[in-house]
Order: sequence, then C-alpha cells, then structure tokens
Amino acid sequence: MGELLGELRRLQAVELQLAGIRRNRGFKENRAARQRRQIQGVEQKLEANAVSSRELQIRLDALALEVASREESTVRHRQALNKAKTNKEYAGILEAMNTEKADTAKIEAVMLDVMKEMETFKATEDELIAERDKLSDQIAKSDAAIVAFDEQVHDDRERLEAERRVFAENLPPSAMAAFTRAAQRHDGEAMGAVVKPRPREDEYWCAGCNMKVTLEVVNSLQTRDEVQMCGSCGRILCLENGIPSRLSG
Ligand SMILES: [Zn+2]
Repeated sequence: MGELLGELRRLQAVELQLAGIRRNRGFKENRAARQRRQIQGVEQKLEANAVSSRELQIRLDALALEVASREESTVRHRQALNKAKTNKEYAGILEAMNTEKADTAKIEAVMLDVMKEMETFKATEDELIAERDKLSDQIAKSDAAIVAFDEQVHDDRERLEAERRVFAENLPPSAMAAFTRAAQRHDGEAMGAVVKPRPREDEYWCAGCNMKVTLEVVNSLQTRDEVQMCGSCGRILCLENGIPSRLSG
C-alpha cells in the first residue's frame, strides 16, 4: 500500500469515529424532535378540544337564558291566572302555562345532554394535559441526554478533529477533497476496499457498494498510489496489504 492510500485509510479510521459520534448524537436529536412533534400534535388537539368546549358552553348559556325567560313568563301567567275573569280566560292561561312547562322540560333535557358532552370534553382535556406533561418531561430528558452526550464525547471529538486537521494539512488537497466528498456521501465511510468474492475467478467488487471493479483498476491500484474512485458509489478504492481482500463469511 502506497503512502497516499495508506494515509487515507488512517484518516478513514478517524472519520469513522467522528461519524459514529455524529450518528449517535443524531439519534438523540431525532428522538427529541419526534417528541416535539408529538407534543405539538397534543397541543393542537387541546386547542380543538377547547374550541368545542367553548361552543358547548355558549350553547348551554343560550339554553339557560331560554329557560329563564320561560320562567319569567310563567310568573306573569301565574299572576294573570289570579286575575282571570272568565273560565275561558283561565283555561287559556293554564294551557299556555302547560305548554311553557313542557317546553322548559325539553330544553332542560337538551341542557343535560350538552353538560354530559362537556364532561366528555373535560375528561379528554385532562387526558391530553397528562400526555402533554409526560411528553414535556421526556423532552427535558432527551435534551439533557444531548447535553450529557456532548460533554461525554467532547474530548474525543476535539482530539479526532485535531487529527483530521493534521491529515488535511499533509494530504494533497485534491485527495482530501475527494475523501471529504465521499465521507459526506457515505456517513464517514469514504474508502471502499476492493474484494475478491470468488477465489478462483478474477472478479472484484467494491466492498462499499458491492459493484464490480475492473481488473484494470485493480492493477493500477497495485502499481500506482493514486486516488481512484468507485464508479458506482464514489468511494476511494483501496487494497488491503496490496491485494484484494477475501470476503469474510
Ligand atoms: Zn463502490
């Protein structure tokens, strides 16, 4: 293995560790983001629930007003009843009062239904608030886990980034650029080892993407210490100890 490809493989080891840290942090970030989306959903449900509750309260208030106005009217009719001069007048007032009573009973039955419905909304609200509290607890824990993780990996990350800077200073800029591009594309895995899947056949693959690598490329890797990218995945191809490695397993 030539000096350039050897250095790139050592850089790869550093890059993979950094990628591992990034990935690990990414999981934690995703979890916090997922919980934030969930709590947003709960907030929206709470809002819709509150709107429905308010609408029911308005309806209930209107019904109570109707009952009150019928009661007032009943009081007036009762007074009129005492002053009725004829049987016919008396009977007419009595009939009006009975109708009022029946109407009031109907309205009160509707009011009961509305109140029951409101209780359901209140129960839902309680459940949603409990869910929101639980989620906000979880979010606080997730955020704290990210802070703790950052502290925990701080020294390693600093050291690895410093190591990467040293590589960047010493490697040819074109090789470093190719490496960085491939690393970004493949979560830190910038290098693709050339493997020979079948011992008796001259067939070679890029271990990164399992696509074919031509014999010509393998030969030139053995003779020239140059960056050669896999035509399929863009990883920088390399040989292990100068030979294509056997597929394990
Ligand atoms: Zn490949």
